[in-house]
Amino acid sequence: MSTFRRELGLMAPYRWWIALGALLGFAAIGSGVGLMAMSAFLISKAALVTNVADVALAITAVRVLAISRAVFRYLERYTTHRATLRILTSLRVWFYRAIEPLAPARLAAYHSGDLLTRIVADIDALEDFYVRVLVPPVVAVLVTALGAVLLGAFSALLAIALLGFLALTGVALPLASRRLSREPARMLVATRADLGAMLVDEVRGVADLLALDEGERHRQRALAIGRELDRAGERLAAVRGLTTALTTLFTSLAGVTVLAIAIPLVTGGRLDGVFLALIPLAAMACFEAVAPLSLSVQLLDGTEKAAARLFELVDATPEVADPPEPAAPPAAHDVEVRGLRFRYGSAEPYALDGLDLAVPDGGSLALVGPSGSGKSTLVNLLLRFWDYREGEIRIGGRDLHDYEVEDVRRMLGVVSQQVHLFNATIRDNLAVADPDATDAQMEAACRMAQLHETILALPDGYETRVGENGVRLSGGERQRLAIARAILKDAPILVLDEATANLDVLTERRLLDSIGPFMAGRTTLVISHRASVAERVDGIVALDAGHVVARPGA
Ligand code: ADP
Ligand code: MG
Repeated sequence: MSTFRRELGLMAPYRWWIALGALLGFAAIGSGVGLMAMSAFLISKAALVTNVADVALAITAVRVLAISRAVFRYLERYTTHRATLRILTSLRVWFYRAIEPLAPARLAAYHSGDLLTRIVADIDALEDFYVRVLVPPVVAVLVTALGAVLLGAFSALLAIALLGFLALTGVALPLASRRLSREPARMLVATRADLGAMLVDEVRGVADLLALDEGERHRQRALAIGRELDRAGERLAAVRGLTTALTTLFTSLAGVTVLAIAIPLVTGGRLDGVFLALIPLAAMACFEAVAPLSLSVQLLDGTEKAAARLFELVDATPEVADPPEPAAPPAAHDVEVRGLRFRYGSAEPYALDGLDLAVPDGGSLALVGPSGSGKSTLVNLLLRFWDYREGEIRIGGRDLHDYEVEDVRRMLGVVSQQVHLFNATIRDNLAVADPDATDAQMEAACRMAQLHETILALPDGYETRVGENGVRLSGGERQRLAIARAILKDAPILVLDEATANLDVLTERRLLDSIGPFMAGRTTLVISHRASVAERVDGIVALDAGHVVARPGA
């Protein structure tokens, strides 16, 4: 299906709003045409009659049309904008729903700035599709018909001349301007995405850039992309300026032409002179409807490009899918990994290569191994972020593929190696794990994570804002906050992935002591590159290059 057809499909639920908007637009411009015609008629007629009663009808008509034009214009703007805002809201929800299952495996291929541009600018661009692309042609056709009927009532030749100029302005000019603006419009969307991608990346890394004295070079790069954006914008503006000028020219020419046709009709006695002024003014008023068409056609390319970028993501198949008939969540939570092999891409080496391990329900196991041996990869597979096809992972006796993805994630309390903290208060960051947690529960979790005292020492306690990705906290504090989150989540399986790596030995020991009661009775997997955790767990497994190399004590 073409992008255009799919864009139309997205707007389908709003078709009645769109129809209403078009109808009101026609009523507004139609009133304008009528107003011009009646005013000209009124002035001409008033010069010829002596009794006001003879022009009473025309006066009333002018009054009604002047008011109705304003009222219809208001209603048209109101409906189209209201509909647009609703469309934008539903598009954002539609897009978010579509990309959520893609995270993180599929989205990893995209730049976060690029994603941001898609969510903000590309969806905003679709706004134009409705207001400026879909509605104007409908209004133009209706007004053209009105103008042709009106002038045709006096003479077919007048109608033909008007149609000719309307076609020139409403069809030929838009097509020509489309040819001229296609390339810059495409460039504008693409460059805007580049700039967004680059800026997001640089703002995030600004500290490193400054420290490495790379600030100036990146400033130059941003300037270069900015200039390219300017160039595309300028070329578009030049085309737009030209079409606006030509539209005005054609409007005036149409007025002059129909006047030139009408004068001989009057002198030849085939047309009452009182209608002479009405004809060019009514004809020119019709151009209000065709003038926006050049912009419609130009925007069509931009919106199609933006829509294509959205559809590209929406069409991506998620890495993991729910089974057609999911099993109910299990009662027991023993974890068993058998012959698990996994690689991130078909061209990449196996990150896990025949992994076997088992943690009994309520038992604990330490997984140790050097960096890059595949420990976090196992966590990614447990969380169903990536899918595995060789070997199996069983929880409660069934393979993870049998459960709904959300159910699997609900079973796991994971403290991952890379903790993400939101730029909000500590309380907000804790509430992510359990939105209904009471203050007492949060405090208890933080006590257990050896964090409560630290938080109290902060200027605003639990209301302290942690800054972008928690910059105001130390690495160890962030890890303890992540542990407090896992405690609040209270899931039956606990996975600590290098969760104490940033803590000194003493704090780590105190922490492991205090979360001991929490671990007890919970299936626990402790991942570490150091063996210091070994004394707290039932078993230990050493991993290297994706498979088990030793089971000390087994
Ligand atoms: P560990 O946690 O034991 O340090 P990882 O499981 O993070 O090791 O990494 C194992 C291997 O998989 C490494 O070679 C790493 O480069 C690769 N890897 C990890 N994450 C990804 C990813 N998202 N995409 C591609 N390769 C990855
Ligand atoms: Mg790791």
